Amino acid sequence: MLSDIEIARGADKRPIQQIAQKLGLGARDILPYGHDKAKITHRALAGLADRPQGKLILVTAINPTPAGEGKTTTTVGLGDALNRIGKQATICIREASLGPNFGMKGGAAGGGRAQIVPMEEMNLHFTGDFHAITSAHNLLAAMIDNHIYWGNALDLDTRRITWRRVMDMNDRALRDVAMGLGGVSNGFVRQSGFDITVASEVMAILCLADDLADLQDRLGRIIIGYTRDKKPVTAHDIGAAGAMTVLLKDALQPNLVQTLENNPALVHGGPFANIAHGCNSVIATRAALRMSDYVVTEAGFGADLGAEKFLNIKCRMAGLSPAACVLVATIRALKMNGGVDKQDLGREDVAAVTRGCDNLGRHIQNLRGFGLPVIVAVNHFDGDSAAEIEALHAYCASHGVRAVLARHWAEGGAGAEELAHAVSEIADAGAADFHTLYSDSMPLWQKIETICTRIYRASHAEPAAGVMQQLAAWEAADFADLPVCIAKTPYSFTTDPARRGAPEGHVVPVREVRLSAGAGFVVAICGEVMTMPGLPRTPAAERIGLGPEGQIRGLF
Ligand code: ADP
Ligand code: MG
Repeated sequence: MLSDIEIARGADKRPIQQIAQKLGLGARDILPYGHDKAKITHRALAGLADRPQGKLILVTAINPTPAGEGKTTTTVGLGDALNRIGKQATICIREASLGPNFGMKGGAAGGGRAQIVPMEEMNLHFTGDFHAITSAHNLLAAMIDNHIYWGNALDLDTRRITWRRVMDMNDRALRDVAMGLGGVSNGFVRQSGFDITVASEVMAILCLADDLADLQDRLGRIIIGYTRDKKPVTAHDIGAAGAMTVLLKDALQPNLVQTLENNPALVHGGPFANIAHGCNSVIATRAALRMSDYVVTEAGFGADLGAEKFLNIKCRMAGLSPAACVLVATIRALKMNGGVDKQDLGREDVAAVTRGCDNLGRHIQNLRGFGLPVIVAVNHFDGDSAAEIEALHAYCASHGVRAVLARHWAEGGAGAEELAHAVSEIADAGAADFHTLYSDSMPLWQKIETICTRIYRASHAEPAAGVMQQLAAWEAADFADLPVCIAKTPYSFTTDPARRGAPEGHVVPVREVRLSAGAGFVVAICGEVMTMPGLPRTPAAERIGLGPEGQIRGLF
């Protein structure tokens, strides 16, 4: 088998205008970025409003292994397969962060024969959206320090400034920095730090905004810190929202690319799945729904985090209503959930698969709790044994859920045709009766507890000192209706990444709460969250370089 990058390089790509045509977009509706990428213009987006909407299909997964279970790969494979069986389908996924490429992670464009191209560019600078987000974020930061330098008319407490700086690189040395050193002309000394760009609230805002006007409103609502008497100060107060919107004007237009099989894919936005909601932009998903019969999209991490946020945050805010969920399972991840160590995953262990199915079953129940029909997609890996696959099928049959073996990684869309038939049948049957897990009006703490007890099956959530007072203050200040975004480990239903399977009755400690007033959610931090990753001892960057013909080596 060729590597992902070799397969991607061999792709028979069509000019991007031809892909746009498949969506009914003409030459004036797109802004080509070279031959194989384009943005869909704001004007074209506005023109879609009256078209009927297609069906939204969410791809999510069981609790993963650290390597990823193939959600993106399955999203792409299913999209291609739907097109192969004569359904018009578009894929919507997130853009990639630059930083992790140089650490150890694989790409974000799928894998094997189910990829989006041009994958090298999608994983590197792409159309510059993340650079624009970095610039907009840092413009606000610069304006805050400038405001203080010129007299601090807003009376900002320099110890209570929460707005940090960002860059799109894994750089642990910048997590905590002292700034303003060097004398009077460099401003006031204060402590701050950097996060990776995907953790920026600007990223989450871009992904939830309806249009340019809503983008500007949301940017203005960002709370950047507090005054000496603890009143919040916003980006609007600093006067930054207009200029930030200008910097983001082009980035708000979704990017159109294609799969290896020349089907349309919108790749737009990439918020973290811990302190943010972890899915592609509302603008892209809405546009795709107006241009196609089926839209296949992905939510980050496992269904306990990714799907929960997709449904309770994105779908709630954007008024989206999925027709079906595809729950990706792999034999490897089931074995891991059944207690097998990472280094032993290659060995056949049918009993461990069956034990691991408890985890699968929990996610199925949870998704059904949102009123959504579920299909299990078994993302086939070479080492999976027939007996292990049979054990998974037996479990699904006994729980009344359809499981389909899919070989899109090895075979492209042709390997996922059965999955495509099953998914389109269930979506067309109209069985979905989607509802969010909690109402807008439920008190903030009760929203957190509802997720912890109903999704994670905890006995309760436990607030650290100060959390309840903070939530009460936000409720009094007009933020009572916001949804909550839980930041916790993706590897377990608990806050302990080592506890696999389907534990229940545990306690979820809520260490801290933060307000993303522009994005429009309250973040509950339950466990360690890393908003500026580091590089491993031997970073992938050491192996990356250009070959004799200028081709990239060592990337994936
Ligand atoms: P996720 O979206 O769940 O994080 P990805 O789809 O990005 O996962 O896949 C993670 C990695 O696993 C990628 O490098 C991909 O090529 C690889 N992968 C996915 N499915 C398979 C498979 N069936 N066989 C082998 N490798 C796979
Ligand atoms: Mg993915």
